[in-house]
Amino acid sequence: MSKSSTKYIFVTGGVSSSLGKGIISASLGKLLKSRGYSVTIQKLDPYINVDPGTMNPYEHGECFVTDDGAETDLDLGHYERFLDHGTSQANNVTTGRIYQTVIQKERKGDYLGKTVQIIPHITDEIKRRIQLLGDTEQFNFVITEIGGTVGDIEALPYIEAVRQLKWELSNNALFIHLTLVPYLAAAGELKTKPTQHSVKTLLEAGIQPDILVCRTEHHLSSGIRKKVARFCNVEQEAVIESMDATTIYEVPLLMQKEGLDKVVLRKLGLTNNNEAELGKWNKFLNGLQNPKQEVTIGLVGKYVELQDAYKSISESIIHAGAENSCKVNVKWIHAEEINNGNVAKKLKDLGGVIVAPGFGDRGIEGKIATIKYLRENNTPFFGICLGMQSAVIEYARNVLALEDANSTEMNPSTSSPVIDLMEGQKEVTKKGGTMRLGSYECHLLEGSNAYHAYKKLKITERHRHRFEFNNNYKEELEKAGFIATGINRENNLVEIIEIPNHPWFVGVQFHPEYKSTVASPHPLFCGFIEACINNK
Ligand code: GLN
Repeated sequence: MSKSSTKYIFVTGGVSSSLGKGIISASLGKLLKSRGYSVTIQKLDPYINVDPGTMNPYEHGECFVTDDGAETDLDLGHYERFLDHGTSQANNVTTGRIYQTVIQKERKGDYLGKTVQIIPHITDEIKRRIQLLGDTEQFNFVITEIGGTVGDIEALPYIEAVRQLKWELSNNALFIHLTLVPYLAAAGELKTKPTQHSVKTLLEAGIQPDILVCRTEHHLSSGIRKKVARFCNVEQEAVIESMDATTIYEVPLLMQKEGLDKVVLRKLGLTNNNEAELGKWNKFLNGLQNPKQEVTIGLVGKYVELQDAYKSISESIIHAGAENSCKVNVKWIHAEEINNGNVAKKLKDLGGVIVAPGFGDRGIEGKIATIKYLRENNTPFFGICLGMQSAVIEYARNVLALEDANSTEMNPSTSSPVIDLMEGQKEVTKKGGTMRLGSYECHLLEGSNAYHAYKKLKITERHRHRFEFNNNYKEELEKAGFIATGINRENNLVEIIEIPNHPWFVGVQFHPEYKSTVASPHPLFCGFIEACINNK
């Protein structure tokens, strides 16, 4: 397909949030890619923040970071994990970013003499951002997921922009609408009225959906499909059932069974007789659903009641478990509830523990108590970002006897700042997008656990932090058996620490969880899970 024939698929949602637009978009993307097309997926978010980087995980769940250092919506993590293809800033656009661009243009004088308005200026900027991916990167398919629910005030400019785009792109655009078909137990029936209303709302905005994906807890009978088709002006074949699945990774197969990819191709006028090739995907699912062994690990963090905050970590654990044909149960443990007195009781039955990333001092002492226990009891430890920094503090305090050792994030006046603000961060006062973000190179020490996992000397991983290992303590720590096994040579930064005299004790300053995909489970997660299995 040539550039000018890039196909645009717009995914909207109705009736309720959390219907799984992200997973449906990712699953459709996976099916199209498995038929040989190039596909990218984009998320439009209706909030005013320029990006989710400044939002609390309670507001937004995890902030996903791309290679180019964009702080983005967690759905981009699903897109990358399903498609095994990187995303970038262009794949996540917020209302804040759209307005920021338009207002900057206005101040520059680009609209001199004109009144700047939502239509056409904001909608034009939205349309430009959508087409940028097709134009510059020449994908066969750009799938654009519109956040929120139709009828939301915030989503209106997006809905209007894609209505106009459909008109301009004609046969190269398609609308998929996700809706809920609830089961009323008292009536013993599935109900289609909410779907009819939600399609009416779309129609009022000038959009006729081509395909309806109906989230449901019970199978849709052909009678229900017929009814939805009749009231919503879609073909019966274009009423796609989306049943609750046991794992999100089953959804591409469910969508294939329902013929979603076939209907999409037919409606876009594409003839393609290749069935989606899902051999590798099925192999992964098989490993996931038929495990040969089982292990329980801990995840110590401060947002454990909100598992979306650690989305990429939990998905990476799933990938690594399937790779090892092992069912991995995760015990989520609140860092604030751990102390030296109860740590043994809380952790003694676990194969290993991940200590999570984070900001601020809440729960930090619990993380340090956890790491001390794991180190002293030869239990596999995997520390990510703040988890790695906590391991440095723990070793400095308990092995080097620097009692006051800390990160200057937690105690700015500590006498032993083993973790300190990065040089480049000292002058930074603004909060948005100012951390060390995105992909950086790291050189590994031969013979280390990291090297065994990656099986190469040079890697790149994604970052999101302000503080770093303080090199003034490197020599002393290394002499005491705490080794830097990964270094960013360009900036002389310690990226990985290990204790060689331990079954598996690895802390990383970067976020490996952003790079684990179904096709390529992350080597460090695989190595950690293997160590946990061996520890049993
Ligand atoms: N708060 C720490 C820092 O800014 C760690 C960040 C993280 O865990 N992502 O360096």
